[in-house]
Amino acid sequence: VTPRADAEALDSADPLAGLRRRFCLPDGVIYLDGNSLGALPDGVEARVAAAIRTEWGSDLIAAWDDDGWWDLPVAVGDRIGALLGAAPGQVVACDSTSVNLYKLLRVAEALRPGRARFVTQHGNFPTDAYLAQHVAGKCLDVVAADDLPGALDTDVAALVLTHVDYRTGAMHDLAALTAAAHHAGAVVLWDLSHSVGAVPLALDAAGADLAVGCSYKYLNGGPGAPAWCYVARRHHDTLAAPLPGWVGHADPFAMEPAYRPAPGVRRLLTGTPGILALRALDTALDAFAGVSLTDLRAKSLALTDLFLRLVDERVGLASPTPHRAADRGSQVSLCHPRAPEVMAALVRRSVIGDVRPPDVLRFGFAPLYVRYVDVWDAVDALAGVVRDVD
Ligand SMILES: *Cc1c(COP(=O)(O)O)cnc(C)c1O
Repeated sequence: VTPRADAEALDSADPLAGLRRRFCLPDGVIYLDGNSLGALPDGVEARVAAAIRTEWGSDLIAAWDDDGWWDLPVAVGDRIGALLGAAPGQVVACDSTSVNLYKLLRVAEALRPGRARFVTQHGNFPTDAYLAQHVAGKCLDVVAADDLPGALDTDVAALVLTHVDYRTGAMHDLAALTAAAHHAGAVVLWDLSHSVGAVPLALDAAGADLAVGCSYKYLNGGPGAPAWCYVARRHHDTLAAPLPGWVGHADPFAMEPAYRPAPGVRRLLTGTPGILALRALDTALDAFAGVSLTDLRAKSLALTDLFLRLVDERVGLASPTPHRAADRGSQVSLCHPRAPEVMAALVRRSVIGDVRPPDVLRFGFAPLYVRYVDVWDAVDALAGVVRDVD
């Protein structure tokens, strides 16, 4: 059985170990739910307080220009773009992931007129499935993951997929599926909610079309943080404005009677952005400063490898998470028929994960702040809990 000293040695040798100090984490808690709500980065509280006091409190309406409020959705979007492998000018931070999915489903539809169908996967995240159903109506094909390439024919406008599965942690090959869709003449709308900030992405290099994602998971932007949309530059000339509001107008303060779209991704904006939430997200992204995403991925895989190995050695629960590193994101799921009971007992021992119906225990490993000893201690607690429950 792998001893705790091995985990301690991995922490000592970890080049990213110091990044944990960029977060405010409660003592004695092993937090393995950063895939659901990222931890609070140091500095966010003070920055938001300053924005309230100085920008809002003193600068008042002038802050829209003087403090950069008006450009914040695009400025924050570009910072997220750096984590997506996207050159500047292709990402905006706004609205929720759900609303952005709606918008980019409409964009996808408009990019491929004459093609009626959307294809998605069984077991996609509920909001993705509901919205694809809503936009595509009877023209939605829902297929098993293995059948995705075969479902792409000349009537398909868009493939709508989540890159890393929220339930199992299984990860698609983004570049390969994008190429397969393009071969069939379709575009792809990727949901990167469980990827961004944990998995290196190369959207431009992969020839990606459209993407959305959350900012409150591995980006640590805070509860309900503004989400984001990516549209590849080659689509900007023909980009439909899916919810044409005044903030996405070419000249918002001209107050023109008719809508004229702003250039590029700005036309994806609809109404007044939530500035305080954007400030929090902007500051949260500082936690990634100077961090190599390749190193981050290496640590994420080492953490999940260690977890899978220890669970094999000491607990013996089945995992629906792919054991091959290239096929998983930064979470591991385990199956137990009494998953809610097991998780409640773990939480009482200060090990925080979550459950998804019917029987899945989920553990997320945010590589910016999870340590190898956290993995060891979590499995130690899990072994005890499973023994008690069985
Ligand atoms: C977390 C998550 C969402 C959440 O959408 P919200 O609009 O922020 O509630 C959507 N899709 C996927 C795949 C997710 O993992």
